[in-house]
Amino acid sequence: MGDNKNNDNDMDFREVVDGEVVDTDNKETEENKTDSTDTDNKDNSSEDKDNQYEDVCFVCRRPESKAGKMFHLPNNICVCDDCMHKTMDAVSQFDYQNLLNNPTLMNELNKNTSGFPNISFVNMDDLKNLGGNLGGIPNSQKIKKKKEKEAKVKPEFDINNIPAPHKIKAKLDDYIIGQEQAKKIISVAVYNHYKRVTTGTMDDIEIEKSNILMLGPTGSGKTYLVKTLARLLDVPLAITDATSLTEAGYIGDDIESVVSKLLAAANNDIEKTEHGIIFIDEIDKIAKKKNTTARDVSGESVQQGMLKLLEGADVEVPVGANSKNAMVPLTTINTRNILFICGGAFPDLEEIIKQRLNKSSSIGYNADLKDKYDKDENLLQKVTTEDLKKFGMIPEFLGRLPIICSLQALTKDMLIKILKEPKNAILKQYQKLLALDEVDLQFDQGALEAIAEKALEKDTGARALRAIIEEFMLDIMYEIPKDDNIGKVTITREYIEGNGGPKIEIRSEMPVAAIEEKKEINTDNAETV
Ligand code: ADP
Repeated sequence: MGDNKNNDNDMDFREVVDGEVVDTDNKETEENKTDSTDTDNKDNSSEDKDNQYEDVCFVCRRPESKAGKMFHLPNNICVCDDCMHKTMDAVSQFDYQNLLNNPTLMNELNKNTSGFPNISFVNMDDLKNLGGNLGGIPNSQKIKKKKEKEAKVKPEFDINNIPAPHKIKAKLDDYIIGQEQAKKIISVAVYNHYKRVTTGTMDDIEIEKSNILMLGPTGSGKTYLVKTLARLLDVPLAITDATSLTEAGYIGDDIESVVSKLLAAANNDIEKTEHGIIFIDEIDKIAKKKNTTARDVSGESVQQGMLKLLEGADVEVPVGANSKNAMVPLTTINTRNILFICGGAFPDLEEIIKQRLNKSSSIGYNADLKDKYDKDENLLQKVTTEDLKKFGMIPEFLGRLPIICSLQALTKDMLIKILKEPKNAILKQYQKLLALDEVDLQFDQGALEAIAEKALEKDTGARALRAIIEEFMLDIMYEIPKDDNIGKVTITREYIEGNGGPKIEIRSEMPVAAIEEKKEINTDNAETV
């Protein structure tokens, strides 16, 4: 009997619900038709005015620029992604089963016309009245949107019509000093990679992916080379440290998080992401650990985990977040056409190469002296995959990075060139800054040498240059603008070494022609500004 009753109730309930759904659906569509035309008209007229303001979350009050894209509810009410998810979470965790099994709660619920105990649903009409016609938050409490960036500078290269390797290298030469062999290898690799990407397959012959392994001491320009390349090609670039990656499920970033970084760099554009570049730095830090019995979650297993990505696979990555969870939407990215570049300093690798070379040259009549390779600066260029295996990289991993290039340690001459020659050289930057104050800044050869020598002592490659220059340029940048009469400053070796000051020339002492010339330059500048 009881069962029958229940069934009856069920039936009734369903009929009523069905009836309502049908009814409301019909009503809603009709209302929507009239409503939408009305509101559209209203919206359009007020859109221009409102457009300049950011949407603000009705719950947490954060603006669109902080909280991200908003859900737009009726009455111009916006709710941010986080708050929406939190609400959904709260609703989904509600213990409905307990409610059904608890007669007192059910009684309460039946009495209470507003629905669940302690939960009252939002009435949109209430919200409408809260803050005037703008659905809660007036413009005076909103911040204005930032102006859209001006049209992007045209990229140097088009990946769909990639220029010949020598042209790529010529462009790299504008920014990167020395490292000729590495620039050549990379230009060819990039040329082949993007040719492969745009052509797909040729007559059933599948061209292999040309991922790159880049070796070189710290500060030799590995990251800079990759950044310059990505900028010239106008492809998205993600840079990660291999040390932050761990096997999935352990504390740290999952290996696949590098792909979601790339997705973010491409503004969530899947097509762009699939043509991007991923640079994984400090790859030497995930070498196989020697003599360890513990599980190697950040070394060998990360190498294992990366195999799939390097080769090309479909990976599911979260959109707009670094880790997967129930509330973040996922998308699938194919890594087949993503160019992976792994870089590392491989500190003890030179020793391994030396041992191998010494071994092969110390046998037989042609035996060489044992210290023949001790002073060889370019030992890294003689690296083989055998050496890298000995270092702790697993063979499968090396197999997926078929192109190996090594960057040289920077010499004094190279450091001097880095100071003054690249398109955005540090010295050029300072000269430009002071030129705006009509002061001519010069560095004599002795000063350049002194800076390079100081940088060599620090052993951090070109990275030391900026720190050294900033240290002594502080006084110059502070003192010079004080005096309008100063026309030229020359930095000398003595000043860098702390034994003297810079050479300062007063404007009136400068030849008239130079002053005239300077005026011309400045008026030109003024016009362009
Ligand atoms: P790493 O090899 O450790 O990745 P970086 O690429 O970060 O070194 O180099 C640090 C900085 O030094 C770069 O931002 C760049 O300005 C400068 N630099 C290094 N090598 C060169 C080079 N060969 N030519 C021009 N600038 C360089």
